[in-house]
Amino acid sequence: CGIVGCILDKTAAPTILKSIRKLEYRGYDSVGIATVTDTINLKKGIGKIDEVDDEIHLDDIDGKVGIAHVRWATHGNPTEDNAHPHNDCNNKISVVHNGIIENYKQLKDELISEGHMFKSETDTEVIPHLLEKYLDEGKSFLEAMQSTVKRLKGSYSIAAISTEEPDKIVGARNESPLIIGVSDHGNYLASDVPAILNETNQIIYLEDKEIIQLTKDKVEVMDYELNIVPKEITTITWDS
Ligand code: GLU
Repeated sequence: CGIVGCILDKTAAPTILKSIRKLEYRGYDSVGIATVTDTINLKKGIGKIDEVDDEIHLDDIDGKVGIAHVRWATHGNPTEDNAHPHNDCNNKISVVHNGIIENYKQLKDELISEGHMFKSETDTEVIPHLLEKYLDEGKSFLEAMQSTVKRLKGSYSIAAISTEEPDKIVGARNESPLIIGVSDHGNYLASDVPAILNETNQIIYLEDKEIIQLTKDKVEVMDYELNIVPKEITTITWDS
């Protein structure tokens, strides 16, 4: 399993696809990608990246901001509906997630009682619906991520995009790896360094219970109270 994301000064999908291929070695059962323009553009399928790409052309998507996922199913069979990314009810938010949300049943029941409709059997799908709930309450995308992670129990690395704030990726990490890559032509995130080493060797390592906000020109790492956490950039000297 693995996740990647990037914000570039050019169409992102070809770079995202190249990066997610670097995580194939970890094993997976399905793959998906989403970008944000004035809508969420999403493609996903079951099987090897090459097979899915031959069929639905994963890199043929507009947008300079995007996320992708290779899934190792823990909750819900490997089906197209269960493949990531997962969206909210109105397709204005898209999320990829590695890990396990232990309290997803309770959260799902709560969200369903509030009118949210679910399309998958995954634990992950509570995340876009929680983000939607908090955005609808008037919070910013970053604040919605803060409110969401405060509700989650378990392990997660998360990356999310939204049509409400289409110039950014927000994310978080707890007990599941997530790193940031910095460059002059854009910023990246990934579950593992080799995913983005072709694009940049300037890496920021994250700790548990950190929230991130990336735009093309800026990278912010925060704690769960949204205080900035100062980070050093490590230059990687090994090859991928
Ligand atoms: N628990 C999530 C799922 O089953 C994420 C699995 C993963 O880390 O790939 O969809």
